Amino acid sequence: KNAKTLEFTQITTTAPIATKRHGGRAKCLQRLVRLDMPIPRTLALSFDAVAGIAAGILPDTTAMMRDFGDGTLVSVRPSSEDPDWGGPRAVLNIGMNDARHAQMELSVGKASANALYLRFIQAYAVHVARLDADMFEDQPFDKNDPDGDSALQSALRAYEDETDEKFPQDPAQQLAEVLRSMARAWSGTTARLLRSAKGAPEDAGLGLVVQEMALGVGHDNSGSGVIQFVDSETGLPQITGRYKCQSQGRDALGAQRDALFLNKDPRGDSLQDMLPEQFDRLVELGGMARRSLREEMQIEFTIEGGVLHILDAVRVNRRARAALRIAVDLARDDVIAREEAIMRINPHSLTELLHPHVDPLAERDILARGIGASPGAALGRIVFSATAAQAAAAKGDAVILVRRETSPEDIRGMHASVAVVTEKGGMTSHAAVIARGLGLPCIVGAFDLVINSKDKTLTTPNNRRFVEGDLLTVDGSLGEVLAGEPKLLDAALDDAFTTLLDWADDARDIDVRANADTPSDAKTARRFAAQGIGLCRTEHMFFEDDRLTVMREMIFANGPEDRRAALDRLMPMQRADFIELFEIMKGQSVCIRLFDPPLHEFLPSTREGIHELAEALDLPLSTVTARIEALTEFNPMLGMRGVRLGITIPEIYDMQARAIFEAAVEVTRRGDTVVPEIMIPLVSAQKEAELVKSRIDSVAAAVRFTEGVDFTFRLGVMVETPRAALRAGDIALNTDFLSFGTNDLTQMTYGLSRDDAARFMFDYVRLGVYAEDPFHVLDTDGVGELLTIGAERGRAARPQIVLGICGEHGGNPESIAFCRRAGFDYVSCSPYRVPVARLAAAQLAI
Ligand code: PEP
Ligand code: MG
Repeated sequence: KNAKTLEFTQITTTAPIATKRHGGRAKCLQRLVRLDMPIPRTLALSFDAVAGIAAGILPDTTAMMRDFGDGTLVSVRPSSEDPDWGGPRAVLNIGMNDARHAQMELSVGKASANALYLRFIQAYAVHVARLDADMFEDQPFDKNDPDGDSALQSALRAYEDETDEKFPQDPAQQLAEVLRSMARAWSGTTARLLRSAKGAPEDAGLGLVVQEMALGVGHDNSGSGVIQFVDSETGLPQITGRYKCQSQGRDALGAQRDALFLNKDPRGDSLQDMLPEQFDRLVELGGMARRSLREEMQIEFTIEGGVLHILDAVRVNRRARAALRIAVDLARDDVIAREEAIMRINPHSLTELLHPHVDPLAERDILARGIGASPGAALGRIVFSATAAQAAAAKGDAVILVRRETSPEDIRGMHASVAVVTEKGGMTSHAAVIARGLGLPCIVGAFDLVINSKDKTLTTPNNRRFVEGDLLTVDGSLGEVLAGEPKLLDAALDDAFTTLLDWADDARDIDVRANADTPSDAKTARRFAAQGIGLCRTEHMFFEDDRLTVMREMIFANGPEDRRAALDRLMPMQRADFIELFEIMKGQSVCIRLFDPPLHEFLPSTREGIHELAEALDLPLSTVTARIEALTEFNPMLGMRGVRLGITIPEIYDMQARAIFEAAVEVTRRGDTVVPEIMIPLVSAQKEAELVKSRIDSVAAAVRFTEGVDFTFRLGVMVETPRAALRAGDIALNTDFLSFGTNDLTQMTYGLSRDDAARFMFDYVRLGVYAEDPFHVLDTDGVGELLTIGAERGRAARPQIVLGICGEHGGNPESIAFCRRAGFDYVSCSPYRVPVARLAAAQLAI
């Protein structure tokens, strides 16, 4: 007796059923039984029992069938620990044989008896005897065979022909074979691969539940259906599902024509019209299930002769948007705690809500793949230059900018576009960083595309050609360029979204700032409730048309005097930029990075551009060309940029510091207290920080004197070279904060160009050389060690120092976890990633 109870347990209120031993379905059924729901008698087989069955040790199925009662039909369903891991298909109507069929012809009628038997034969033939499914497919209704007599006979015959055996008649043997085949299917390679892709462990077990059938066919007022109480798309309360008279299992869902609505519906008949009492009871039971299982459930039910039976309940299938709404509503109704609502949402899934995206059900005609560098999807006409993008946008066209790669010159064109595609580049290339900041869908590293900007054509790997003006769709989430116009779904920034993130803010213990260069970025940052700006890349302010010319004059200046004259003209423009930023951020921290890129980025690269520049500066072409050549470097990212420029041409930083201080004074006068933060890029030696600091201090003193007011500011250093991380101890002495620039730090730690890595990154990740793209997910082993060293040495030298990260990794949940462990005070990321970071940070703290 003992051995038998070990093998199968009847699901009662007190039976020892556990998710980890019997699976989620068995446990869920027990919960429903405890709620006193009308669940037909059910037995649970444990993971061990099923493993035993797969190995050939069968339970006493004769006893099982006897327990159910003579002549009872049963079903078997899988019950894995996590329902998402899947499992073999359910088999219904086990116990059906010739004798039972003959009895049922009398009790429920010929057609119903035939249908029940046929369904079992089909399932048994295909899933147990492994016969060819084609032979047992459902046939369309045949008016010469209204009761399905010949369909049944031909299925029986087909079975006999193929197996040379009569269809098994002993219910105990039928059940044994079904159990064995389901147990074996679970250990098959396909099933293993499928579930491990969903995160199941190698040794995940399978339980099975054997349940007495409630027959949805035969008697009057019989049928089956599926009901849920929220919409799977939006998560909003709404009764959804179908009911089908004279049906079994989940038939109602597949039935197009003859299924009924559940609640009253102007489009047709409903269960509520037909069987109002049963409908009301179903709604009541649904509410109980939600409260008790603490989840929105989809309930499978059968009505047999007017009596309602609940067979099963599973988590409602849901899109990202619905998941969020469901979690928030459950917490609002006190069904779950707020913390639990926070934990239930995958932070990555929020990106889907922030941008329009391609309907996952839409057909995709994929033209090319690249790195999905900025999420969301957009439809537009392709253009091949920034100028064309601006011109088309001025006419109101939605355009997709297609370039081999982008440079700062393209920024205005990017602003004018709805999406960007580049042939080259990786996660931190120019196009990627700017597009993320703008919230534009972007694909980089689409090496398969041949982009010809001269002919204005785009050719795909299989030779499909597109010309300027053709309509394409960019899916920046999956990194796919799609032909035509697949259906797009809107962004969903509703109140549920805001509410969940407000709760997340209460829970988290690391600050989240935004990287924002422009007023529009700053507004987005505020909209997503960033706690200030962690990185403002000031060079982006110099690409506006009027400024670019002055900037170029500054670059071509003959000596400091000339240069200062040009900078004097840039200063008020910068000051106005900062005033706007400070005002938008309303007293929150704004961290401004001093000028960083190599100067040659501001110079034209084309022949016409150089010609225009010579005209504008009134210089001979040869002088301009010579100057450009003089600025050319073999390795500009490791050359004259960042603090190196700041030290050799100090007037640039002087101008920027003055603009920052004067703006801060002005905005403080207007009422918001501003404590600006200034940060020095690309430092690798303590002396660099010291030299810049002393100049900035004297600019501050001068502004204090001329403005007649005192003010404070904070000075920090970007740790983005390996040496800065190693020497963080002495660098910290001159600074209030260290901000880790993990883009450059990754580039320099690996010796891996952030602009060219995409060329082999796919292969590297595919072959497992790198676990992930290190520009995307922080390399905690290598770059992370430098971060830890930098943080520890900085803190040891100056305990009150503030530590932050402002590379693209700042928005990545795994990287945030690392920074939090290392004791960082904040992370800073693109505005559109701020919500993801807020939620991820909260989950770490719960
Ligand atoms: C970095 O290098 O990580 C950084 C934030 O600066 P940028 O991306 O502008 O080089
Ligand atoms: Mg950098």
